[in-house]
Amino acid sequence: MTLHNSMHREQQSKALLEQAKGYAYEYADSVAQRNVFPSKQAVADLEQFVEDLPTTSGDATAILQQLHQYGSPATTAQTGGRYFGFVNGGILPVTLATKWLSDFWDQNTALYVMSPIASKLEEVCEGWLRQLFGLPDNTVAGFVSGTSSAILCGLAAARYRLLQNQGWDFNQQGHNGAPALRIIAGRHIHGAVTKAVALLGFGTDNIEWVEGDDQGRILPEQLPQLDGSCIILLQAGNVNSGSFDPFEEICDGAKRAGAWVHIDGAFGLWAGGTRRLKHLTKGMEKAHSWSVDGHKTLNTPYDSGILLCHDKEALVSALQANGAYLTSCYGENRDGMLYTPEMSRRARAVELWAALKYLGAEGVDQLVYGMHERALQFGDELRAAGFAILNDVVFNQVIVSPADTDTETDRIMAAIQDSGECWVGGSVWQGKKVIRISVCSWVTSPKDVSRSVQAFIRARETVTEQ
Ligand SMILES: *Cc1c(COP(=O)(O)O)cnc(C)c1O
Repeated sequence: MTLHNSMHREQQSKALLEQAKGYAYEYADSVAQRNVFPSKQAVADLEQFVEDLPTTSGDATAILQQLHQYGSPATTAQTGGRYFGFVNGGILPVTLATKWLSDFWDQNTALYVMSPIASKLEEVCEGWLRQLFGLPDNTVAGFVSGTSSAILCGLAAARYRLLQNQGWDFNQQGHNGAPALRIIAGRHIHGAVTKAVALLGFGTDNIEWVEGDDQGRILPEQLPQLDGSCIILLQAGNVNSGSFDPFEEICDGAKRAGAWVHIDGAFGLWAGGTRRLKHLTKGMEKAHSWSVDGHKTLNTPYDSGILLCHDKEALVSALQANGAYLTSCYGENRDGMLYTPEMSRRARAVELWAALKYLGAEGVDQLVYGMHERALQFGDELRAAGFAILNDVVFNQVIVSPADTDTETDRIMAAIQDSGECWVGGSVWQGKKVIRISVCSWVTSPKDVSRSVQAFIRARETVTEQ
């Protein structure tokens, strides 16, 4: 049989998809029971994938079988409820199901004419996000791979606008000889923001750093004198403590000076979409651009990031760099590529739409507040067991200091990870090694938290008994 015929047969019989479905269900049914991090055997078995590029075509059934046999066990059990590493999200069932369906569509969302449905869902999500976050009416959204990309877009729009204000067209005239822009950022800004500063050519040495308080929040009185050349980088959700910068005061000052404010809220911006945690983001609507992930707190599948910007012209101009967009930009139908650096993209708005339609505003509150409650529970139970909690648990992040020395902290963390009971990562907080817990999945239950706390206690016993 020719290769082409095989593919036709695979497509028509659907046996391959049934096989995948069977494996997927098997995975889903076992993920909560198994070790959160792959076993040593599972990691060693990854050598099964190391081979020379095949010279001839293979067997689809066998390929899928190999992936499940050796791939599935070497995943981290992120959907199981006891993964608290970095700031990674879970996945809402409705988003997984809608993604599955849209995978069959295989749409390219660059232009309306490539996918009317993707264009419509982007438009709907843009409006819903504006409403949920209480952002200005003229706010537009770009659907990108993650917050890292979204920050890049926000800063590019800021650069375009601030230089345009000074009569300089950045797209045409570029960096050489351009009026200097100033980058002002809090000490605790995320590495993705620093990366965007570097990628866009501002130079990290030129950042004017602003000190923070004991929770990592910018101290507004430490801000330098602002003017119309300033881009101020704030954050909603410190990646360690979960704290929020004081937006209102800083945005008001920036507005008076003609400066641009970008808020990086990869996971924390969602607090601004809730009823019970909205107070954390007071004044955020006064910024100019915002970056946020769908794949973290909102629990949509990877990958999904959103850039929100209330200066459509600056954003579209910065990302398109040619005048041809103008006809379509203000046309009847939305062309998604105008708001993103990429042209071809997958239809991320499908899962965002599904998540927001499923949850509704009240469900977003329950989802996000639930993560906050689990984080509070972690803090309380760990404290009761004698662990030091170094942050105010205002959101979903908990910083734990399990020991007096960095060496012992490392050993306790390794023992927790080895237990397979839960997975937590390390960080540095105020010069000290710490364990960082991020509650980011809807699946995590109070039982999961208590069980994980037991793993902390046992790990400390093992290490101190040695
Ligand atoms: C995760 C994170 C980022 C980077 O987001 P990606 O979606 O991984 O690109 C940026 N800022 C903060 C605060 C984050 O937590």
